[in-house]
Amino acid sequence: MEQFKGIGVSRGVAAGEAFVIESERMPVRARQIPEDQVEAEVRRYESAVATAIEGIRDDQRRLAPKLGDEYLAIFETHIRMLDDRRLCDDIIDRIRTGHVAAEAAADEVLRKYITLLLEDQSTARWVPDIYDVQNRLHRVLLGRQSGDVRELEKPVVIVAEDLTPSQTVGFDRDKVLAITMEKGGVTSHTAIIANALGIPAVVGLRGLTAGVRAGDRIIVDGGGGQVFIDPDEETLAKYVEIEHKITESDRRLADALHELPAETVDGRRITLYANIEFPEEAQTAIDNGAEGIGLYRTEYLYLQKGREPTEEEHLEAYRSAAELMWPRPVVIRTLDLGADKVVSATPGHFTAEPNPFLGCRSIRLCFERIGMFKTQLRAILRASVFGYIRILIPMVTALREITRVKEILAEVREELAAEDIDNELDIELGIMIEVPSAAVMADSFAKEVDFFSIGTNDLIQYTLAVDRGNPAISHLFQPGHPAVIKLIKYTIDAGDAAGIPVAMCGQMSGDLSYLVLLLGLGLREFSTSPKVLPELKRAIRLIKMDDARDIADEVMKEADIEHALDTLTHRRQELIGEV
Ligand code: PEP
Ligand code: MG
Repeated sequence: MEQFKGIGVSRGVAAGEAFVIESERMPVRARQIPEDQVEAEVRRYESAVATAIEGIRDDQRRLAPKLGDEYLAIFETHIRMLDDRRLCDDIIDRIRTGHVAAEAAADEVLRKYITLLLEDQSTARWVPDIYDVQNRLHRVLLGRQSGDVRELEKPVVIVAEDLTPSQTVGFDRDKVLAITMEKGGVTSHTAIIANALGIPAVVGLRGLTAGVRAGDRIIVDGGGGQVFIDPDEETLAKYVEIEHKITESDRRLADALHELPAETVDGRRITLYANIEFPEEAQTAIDNGAEGIGLYRTEYLYLQKGREPTEEEHLEAYRSAAELMWPRPVVIRTLDLGADKVVSATPGHFTAEPNPFLGCRSIRLCFERIGMFKTQLRAILRASVFGYIRILIPMVTALREITRVKEILAEVREELAAEDIDNELDIELGIMIEVPSAAVMADSFAKEVDFFSIGTNDLIQYTLAVDRGNPAISHLFQPGHPAVIKLIKYTIDAGDAAGIPVAMCGQMSGDLSYLVLLLGLGLREFSTSPKVLPELKRAIRLIKMDDARDIADEVMKEADIEHALDTLTHRRQELIGEV
């Protein structure tokens, strides 16, 4: 039995057979070929190209009924790339002169092409396609598994170096028992999706893919962050028991607290909302006592479909969530695409960027693609008559972005009015505070919008310059950093002064270690994963506001992160014990 320790990001225990996904863009070993086998290697390459093209044709036939002409054209582009005479000659030349294996020669040559394409904005958009072509060739030459697990035949535990949100969103809950990967952090989007799908997951498992073979038996403990390869019977029995206990105690807690308010010992009412990624989760939110949806991450509709949703598809999703939640509010966040949330199979939709998290993401992308943005806004406004819907704009960094959103919203309203389509005229408009510039400008922005929602996942990433998905620096991703706390405090105060509600929807809001501090800073609305809500409510009901304020005052005095965390831990333990 071998054991790995990582970061548990989605609770639950599962055991099953490992399904190892070779990651995209994984470097290949530059294997040398003896002189007398060089021509055989050239033939191996040519035959791989033919097989890869055949594979594309198969996909084209299989997907034709599901995809439109625009998407089918992508396959033709990939075939042309694979068949390109110059590319083939360059790769064959490299095999012959360098005596290297076909996959390494292809890798080297394609990298050079990618570097050239990236030099020019107009050609950079082809880079994701080159990666696709490269992966196809590698799959044929090295017999690697495809990352597409949509058609799994039996339930498995996924083992991967890294998974994109668009891969994860396609997982079938009945076939994917658990997810384990080498990369990722608590707030990475793949972790968020695993949580939403209720799939146990552990990330940041260094060296995992080298230690597991396809078909190995594997246990995943998503709460404890443990993974066991080839476990003995005793370990297996122990974890089945743990799983049973977790499910039981979660259910009992949710039942016991369902009718009770989220209220501090001294009667301060706190609002608990749920974050969802799919409309079906609205029921789980209600079952766990959510008073509304504080964040509906709509980009997953796009990622699930692998293409832009139609207005009717948007409408159906929003309407079903709004109707189910009524009269509770549903905060619909407009498409937060870009960065890691891209669909690589749709060329032209996303441009490869050197720093995608600082690139054309979220509202910036919506401004670039007004048609796509307007389609979504039309659907949100149309859905607004079926429930209580509020609009939330992500990644706002400047006042003029708010003004621009209002102008576009007004145009969409006019279009709907001209078509005699009903919509809620007083729909509330809020912004995410998830970039330091927005937090610093919160007093000015508060005058322009109806509510704030603090997105700590990005706010921490951008304030501390720590990639939220990089396990190598996850220890630096510190919600309790004094700079982060000051920005949160400033945002809450700015919202209070302007008389608008301030919620928090980043993962920090569901982390019990920070609950006392956040209450003390003045936060009254929390939005988090539905399953965390009962625990959060239980803890809120143990806290006195005066104590929370004292603790926040003390923590705010500390300039050093270690001191701030020590003070918080010490005072929190006195108040609510271990969390
Ligand atoms: C955040 O950044 O905190 C947030 C809630 O948005 P997302 O995690 O979707 O980026
Ligand atoms: Mg964010």
